[in-house]
Amino acid sequence: MTTQASLPPETPQTSDARVVHVLEFPGGYTRSTGPVIGRFLTGLRSGRLFGVRMPDGRVLVPPTEYDPQTAAALGAADEDWVQVGPAGTVTTWTWVDDPRPDHPLDRPFAWALIRPDGADTALLHAVDSGSKAAMATGMRVHPTWRAERTGAVKDIACFAPGEGPAEVPALAPAGVPTPVDGPASDGEAELEPVSMVTLPHRLEYRLRGGTVWNHFIDGMAVGQIRGTRCAKCGKVFVPPRGACPGDGVPATEWVDLPDTGVLTTFAVNNVPAAGAPEVPFISGYVLLDGADVAMLALVSDVPWQEVRIGMRVRGVWVPDAERTRSVKNLKWFAPTGEPDIPFEQFEEYV
Ligand SMILES: [Zn+2]
Repeated sequence: MTTQASLPPETPQTSDARVVHVLEFPGGYTRSTGPVIGRFLTGLRSGRLFGVRMPDGRVLVPPTEYDPQTAAALGAADEDWVQVGPAGTVTTWTWVDDPRPDHPLDRPFAWALIRPDGADTALLHAVDSGSKAAMATGMRVHPTWRAERTGAVKDIACFAPGEGPAEVPALAPAGVPTPVDGPASDGEAELEPVSMVTLPHRLEYRLRGGTVWNHFIDGMAVGQIRGTRCAKCGKVFVPPRGACPGDGVPATEWVDLPDTGVLTTFAVNNVPAAGAPEVPFISGYVLLDGADVAMLALVSDVPWQEVRIGMRVRGVWVPDAERTRSVKNLKWFAPTGEPDIPFEQFEEYV
C-alpha cells in the first residue's frame, strides 16, 4: 500500500531538523607504528626530536618510512638517525582565535610549520605566542615538553617563542607520580620502545536536514516511512533523496512505504560500540516493499544464528508516546514469519 504526494507544494516546511552528528572511533583508533615512526615517538617520550636522513643528505622531520621522491626505505641504520632542534624556525602559520575542545591549547594560538634546527622539513605544531601580532614567519621557537610523555606528538605541549631553553622534565608516565629527584632516564630505561599508538578520531558537525530530510523525519515521528520516486526511471528511494542519483533529475514524488520488506544482507556485530546494542547484534540492509534501495537497519527479536538473507521482516517501533522526530522511532526489524524470498527476486538490489 502506498500513498503519494508531490513536492512542492505539499511538502510541509514547518519543521527544521538541525542535529549534531558525531563520527568517531570511541576510545580512539589503535594501530602499530612500524619501526620508523616508533623510533620518532620513542624519541619524543625521552624529550628528544629525531629526524631521518635521506640518501641526498637532507633530514626529514617527522621521519617517513620511505624517501618521498625515490620510495627507497629510510631509517634502517642507526647512522641514518639525526637528533634535531629542539629550537626551530616557523616557516608558515595560521592563527586560531577560538580553540576547539580537543586543541592543544585552551587559549588563542597559532598552528605552525616548524623546521627544527638541523632538519630540512617542518613539523606541524601549536605555537603559544600570546597574540597574533607576536607571530611571524621566520620567528624562532622552542618546544615546551610535558612531564607525562607517552610517545606522542602531544608530548610537546606546544612551542613557545625564543631559543629556549627547552627543558625536559623528568618522565612521569600517565598514572605514575613525577619523581621528586633523579634523572629523567631512570624511568625510561625500563620502557619498551613505542610500537603501538591510540589516535583520537572524532568529527562533530551540525547537520541542517533540508526539505526532503525534514519531511522524512516528520513521517518517522508518526510511524510512517516516506520515500521519493524519480519521475524518469520510477525508482523509489528510502531514506529519500532529493534527486535521482542515476538520472540527475529531482525526485519530486513522495511515496509512503510499508514497514515490511526483505533482508538482503546482514552482519553479525561482535565489536562493542558506544550507542550500539549489546553484542552480538545484527545490522543489515532491508529492502522495503515498493522501494528500490535497501536501507541500513538493525535486526532483532531473533537469535543471531537464525538470521538469514531473504528473511521477511517488519519494523518494530517505539510506543507512540515515546516518539520523537528521529529515525530511532524505528527500533529495528523483526521476522514476520512469512516464507523467505528467493535470492533471485532481490539480487539486483544487493
Ligand atoms: Zn531516476
